[in-house]
Amino acid sequence: MRYAVISDVHANLEALNAVLKKIDKYPLDKLLFLGDSVGYGPNPNECVEILKEKTDIILAGNHDRAAVGMIDITNFNPYARAAIEWTHKTLTPENRAFLKTLPLTAVLDTILLVHSTPNEPELWRYLNRRNADMYFHLFKEKICFVGHSHEPAIIECSPSGTIIVHRDKAAIKEGHRYIINAGSVGQPRDNNPEAAYTVLQKNSIAIKRVSYDIVFTQKKMKDAELPLMLIERLSKGV
Ligand code: ZN
Repeated sequence: MRYAVISDVHANLEALNAVLKKIDKYPLDKLLFLGDSVGYGPNPNECVEILKEKTDIILAGNHDRAAVGMIDITNFNPYARAAIEWTHKTLTPENRAFLKTLPLTAVLDTILLVHSTPNEPELWRYLNRRNADMYFHLFKEKICFVGHSHEPAIIECSPSGTIIVHRDKAAIKEGHRYIINAGSVGQPRDNNPEAAYTVLQKNSIAIKRVSYDIVFTQKKMKDAELPLMLIERLSKGV
């Protein structure tokens, strides 16, 4: 069994292509996507079309729903809001219609997939290593994959309830449960600008990174007149 799990592409075509090229080097059973195909980056249509074609499961994130008018963006910060408005204008009617059909959660074998949190995913809360403890009580599967915070982490819960946080790899053990934040393909925020992706095998999980042509993505963002703050953060991974 070999699954790749990716999240938060955010219309960054160069980052998405770099990840897919890496993933394609080994046989893969499924490619799973946790949402936020668009928002922030310059290539929303291309990214939606690639994800639609290549993934086995594709979820909606808050930016996908915001870009098609399904959620209110008054709580978004001004940069995210400007990017959502640009994305809404730029998406084709077909891609807008497709984004509207995407679910918030999916279950595959013993794995729960969700963009935000296992319970009440429509509230778009952030799950992290500090509050993960309570979320283990709110799903029944062995593994829950999340995205949303753009901060990759592997959080393990032992049968006695001890929480262990792993940086980028861990063994998958009998009786233990896991919450895995797959990080972000298109806008990492853990001080590492490289695109993140996750590979799950029967007995192991690994978060991997790959470099991509950030300068080219930034040039396209400048041409599209997207906010400078969103352009600059890509080089720092913040
Ligand atoms: Zn996101």
